Amino acid sequence: MYDLIITNGRVASEHDVLPLDVAVLDEKIVALGMHGQFDAVGAKKVIDAGGKYVVPGGVDPHVHFDLAVSEVMVAQAPTAGSRAGLWGGTTTYIDFSLAMGDDDLVESVGSKLESTRSQRPHADYALHAIVSGDWPLRTAEQMREVINGGVVSFKFFTTFQGTETVGGLMSDDGRIYSAMLETEKHGGITMVHCEDECIIDYHVRKLTSEGKTHFSHIHEARPTLAEEAAVRRMLHLSRRTGSPLYIVHVSAAESVEAIAEGRAAGIPVAAEALHSNLRFDPADYLLPEGQRYMNYPPNRPIEHREELWAALADGRLDTLASDDYTVKLGKKLTGATIDNLAGGTNSIETRMAYFWSEGVTKRDLSVSRFVELTAAAPARLFGIYGRKGVIRPGADADLVVFDPDRRHTWTEDNLHSDCDYSNWEGWEVHGFPVTTVLRGHVMVHEGEWVGPEGIGQFIPGGTPEL
Ligand SMILES: [Zn+2]
Repeated sequence: MYDLIITNGRVASEHDVLPLDVAVLDEKIVALGMHGQFDAVGAKKVIDAGGKYVVPGGVDPHVHFDLAVSEVMVAQAPTAGSRAGLWGGTTTYIDFSLAMGDDDLVESVGSKLESTRSQRPHADYALHAIVSGDWPLRTAEQMREVINGGVVSFKFFTTFQGTETVGGLMSDDGRIYSAMLETEKHGGITMVHCEDECIIDYHVRKLTSEGKTHFSHIHEARPTLAEEAAVRRMLHLSRRTGSPLYIVHVSAAESVEAIAEGRAAGIPVAAEALHSNLRFDPADYLLPEGQRYMNYPPNRPIEHREELWAALADGRLDTLASDDYTVKLGKKLTGATIDNLAGGTNSIETRMAYFWSEGVTKRDLSVSRFVELTAAAPARLFGIYGRKGVIRPGADADLVVFDPDRRHTWTEDNLHSDCDYSNWEGWEVHGFPVTTVLRGHVMVHEGEWVGPEGIGQFIPGGTPEL
């Protein structure tokens, strides 16, 4: 007898969609079969997915829980964020430790893992390590040990010299280069937030001289050229070192082009889009409380967003993330100028359904491509594929039943982050996750939390697959 059978569904992988039943025992997928094949064996619980898709549990490769890069940007706890993720079909999230300057890298990773474990998140998680500021040589030397401990990805910033709202995170190219030498050698991957600080500095000075310091000019202060310039520099370092490179939250058409050129030239690069960058426009900064709509890099005009959609569909972009960094509204509204503005959006819960609705329902994106972008590729790139990101015997039983016909409107009352606002309130999606299963435990079913609490486990990463 199985623990769980999901029957009558269309089971999707990044390659195909097949009419299959899924049998689960002891938290693992143990068999896939024709519809009805496992009826004779039976199960403690049966979920009928007739007319629906069964997709791998979402892997959100970029979220920030329990992080404070400044007194303003204080993120929600992993319990709250993981709960919101499960409601939205994300069963594994990848969070970040933070080492600043002289901080010991091994300790920063260890203390993040310990504090996350002690808070007992509801979903499974992996970890990236942020390495920020002017860190010493010792830090690069510690990367091998961190990789061996299952944290294989290191994130750097080419911007943020330090303001009240965002804090100082920037590292110079020499340090990022030295990190790439390590990730190349030891089976890791270097992630970079790409915005060129010098190009931004020029635009801030110029806009200031014109009296345009209001935050609604933030997309002019941080133009697409700034992103493209940093992307091209990082591609070059990746080319020379051979290090795998992951570019977070690509927002600009020029960056998409640079990445495609780099890949064609053999550079081991992968790149991410955020669903908030598909949705929001620079004009949103002019709405009441316009700071709500700010994340770094800033919102781009529609032609850039259309290019992101095209690149997600045709493979020039690899993953869809949320970059959840949920900040309470009072703090979010603290800064109001182009050189002092909080980033971060509340978005882990809306990632899968928004992308299904706009991509699969409205733009004819295939369900397999949806799976690739929201689960399989994030799992492969950070070394957890096989256990996560795929429905096959031996994998963790992380399953989401997606109803392509279900309509759902997000409201203050049906979102689950620890926050007092969401930019997604009032947004209607067509296609919605109606059941979320984590390691065989039904967590959310038909609008109810039915799962156990605090069962999230750390999933160590292996070698990134590009
Ligand atoms: Zn981020």
